[in-house]
Amino acid sequence: MKYVEVILPLPLEGTFTYAVGDELSSKVKPGARLLVPLGKSKRYIGVAVSMTDVKPDFDVKEIVAVLDDKPVILPNQLKLWQWISNYYLSPLGDILKAALPSGLKTQDSYKPKTEQYVGLTEPYRNEQALHIAINTLSRATKQQKAFIDFLAMSHWDSLSGTTNTEDIAEITKEELMNFSHCNAPSIKNLIERKILYAYEKEVGRLNNGGESHFENIKQLNKFQAKAFDEINSQFEEKKVVLLHGVTSSGKTEIYIHLIKKALEEHKQVLYLLPEIALTVQIMERLKRVFGDRLGIYHSKYSDAERVEIWNKQLSDSHYDVILGARSAVFLPFTNLGLVIIDEEHETSFKQQDPAPRYHARSAAIVLAGIYGAKTLLGTATPSIESYYNAQQGKYGLVELKKRFAGIELPEIRVIDVKDLQHRKMMQGPFSPQMLAAINDALQNDKQVILFQNRRGFAPMIECRECGWVPKCSNCDVSLTYHKNLNQLTCHYCGFTYTVPKVCPNCGSEKINGRGYGTEKIEERICDIFPDARVARMDLDTTRTRNAYERIITDFSAGKTNILIGTQMISKGLDFDNVSVVGILNADSMLNYPDFRAYEHAFMMMSQVSGRAGRKGERGLVMLQTKSVDLPVISQVVNHDFKNFQKDLLDERAVFHYPPFYHLVYVFLKHSKNEVVESAGLEMGGRLKQYLGDRILGPDKPAVARVKAMNIRKIVIKLENGINQKQVRDVLHYVQKQIMQDKHYAALHIYYDVDPL
Ligand code: ADP
Ligand code: ZN
Ligand code: ZN
Repeated sequence: MKYVEVILPLPLEGTFTYAVGDELSSKVKPGARLLVPLGKSKRYIGVAVSMTDVKPDFDVKEIVAVLDDKPVILPNQLKLWQWISNYYLSPLGDILKAALPSGLKTQDSYKPKTEQYVGLTEPYRNEQALHIAINTLSRATKQQKAFIDFLAMSHWDSLSGTTNTEDIAEITKEELMNFSHCNAPSIKNLIERKILYAYEKEVGRLNNGGESHFENIKQLNKFQAKAFDEINSQFEEKKVVLLHGVTSSGKTEIYIHLIKKALEEHKQVLYLLPEIALTVQIMERLKRVFGDRLGIYHSKYSDAERVEIWNKQLSDSHYDVILGARSAVFLPFTNLGLVIIDEEHETSFKQQDPAPRYHARSAAIVLAGIYGAKTLLGTATPSIESYYNAQQGKYGLVELKKRFAGIELPEIRVIDVKDLQHRKMMQGPFSPQMLAAINDALQNDKQVILFQNRRGFAPMIECRECGWVPKCSNCDVSLTYHKNLNQLTCHYCGFTYTVPKVCPNCGSEKINGRGYGTEKIEERICDIFPDARVARMDLDTTRTRNAYERIITDFSAGKTNILIGTQMISKGLDFDNVSVVGILNADSMLNYPDFRAYEHAFMMMSQVSGRAGRKGERGLVMLQTKSVDLPVISQVVNHDFKNFQKDLLDERAVFHYPPFYHLVYVFLKHSKNEVVESAGLEMGGRLKQYLGDRILGPDKPAVARVKAMNIRKIVIKLENGINQKQVRDVLHYVQKQIMQDKHYAALHIYYDVDPL
């Protein structure tokens, strides 16, 4: 007997021990999937991590089967899983669930795609027999024609004497039917006559992007070339380099040169993007150069495709470059040499729910470390953490201050909405200046991007008589009105409600929407500019992979004039003809109740501004706000990243926030409010015994009930340099103590480390 430690896809700490009978023990290898029993009747697919001969001092069950001859998770991947589990206080089982595509987590969900082929049976593989066959078919003309066509297509007809089958082409049934205009019964008859035989073959789902064409690489200008050299020389000393280059300075072209260099050194590259919307454009730029050496991997790909990419990465014919969103950090690599994290400041690199709540930037840097690879972080607006690390000398720093081809950064005009409202000059969400700028752009055949960070029609509806606001019955939030669907939706739990005709509180019919979501902006814009072609890009219009591609390619091709969208349009998109960008409501970002509100608002505004005037003329940004006097507004206007970061760092140091302190949020969840209340107090109290005034709370979070679960939050502020392992041990210990109390049996405790 041997014993194996197995990770199961369950939110439970640690690994599980199983026995392996002698006949299977040679087959079990770390990283292979095993079928194992759990409890009375359940079976799970787990991942083997280690083996031992030592019998544990508790009863163990035997594994049922070994599912892989060769490991599907490589040792380096397991190291990354361990790191994520440890750092983000997340059970290994949750990492397994996030890391593997579904097809590798269940036994029967991945089906290889197969195709039906037909071939020539053995006895007919010589000239004489072929003539006999053709003759015997003389009274079955359809079959005869199909057979002759088959011989031509497969090149059997040109074969004389020898049977050199290497020259024979494989023909699918379908190809034969299409070519020969015959039907299935004719082919079936040929098979029944034992002239042809049928066979099935697995075919890949992955597109073939053609060969690589390094000659399509653009030559770098002198600023780019200097940055490229600096990056490479800094890589000699630093594992991570931050490329801080203003929007449209040509960072992507530098990445392409770095990828080429890595490939020439026979290394693999992982290129991470925060948003699938972005992969559409970047993919085209990379495909042109790297052809089918480039693989794409993200959650909008079908599960079967993802399994095939995974398996391909394990084979000798793996991709050299992987372009993907967050989950691509989990792919197998054999020889990773470079990781590029584009738009490194983006918060969507952090997974929120479900666990593991990991930051893909941190995970990717760790992954690169495991492989001895280098990491390049690229952005126009570095995250405060990365910027600080660069200032401290932990990361290298390379700057690109000029836009490509000497284009100036856009002019940003601030529009005082408060004043205009006072003078009753706003037209709904639009100032007259905004409308004039849009009109100008349209007159000159230019395109416009309008940014509004709320989707739906109205973020809120209310009764004008009594002030009643519909709320979600499962969550402590008001509902968003979606006009197209004519329903109210909870953006927290996804629940939908019909729109009431009368107020259930006072019976009034005066129920109105308040505020503007992207849907309403679109409607208003279409009213004001009836000739303009308008598109909208938000979560509601991009449920499928094709929807993204269509909106972006149509806008790129000039088929749409105005693109309205949420933060999705703020990131890295490269359009040639956008002259005006409108930021409709900066205040919704600035007033967000979070210490990161200004940081996020600055980045969002700078990034979306960066979409303007990338080619040709200088772009114009119209920024509507009620807070014209806030320093952050003038910093956006002046593209003054340095002072913005300086102010932010000063404030963070005073109030003990990142990057000077690490934050850990502890969440407690239970269906009963009393239970979560007392558990929160108890946990907070116990933690304070060990960690003192590093513990704040428990408190009710801004949204204290989600999906019918009540929530409490404890904030932990840890000074840099504290022994993180000790803190983790305390957390695990206290959690265990709490969970021993029977009252808390159904309590769910989880952590958000480095929350965003
Ligand atoms: P960033 O990634 O910094 O926003 P991009 O790499 O997208 O900038 O470059 C902005 C635009 O300038 C793109 O359309 C790109 O094709 C073009 N460009 C950048 N560098 C070069 C170059 N060296 N030669 C030709 N065109 C370039
Ligand atoms: Zn809800
Ligand atoms: Zn009412």
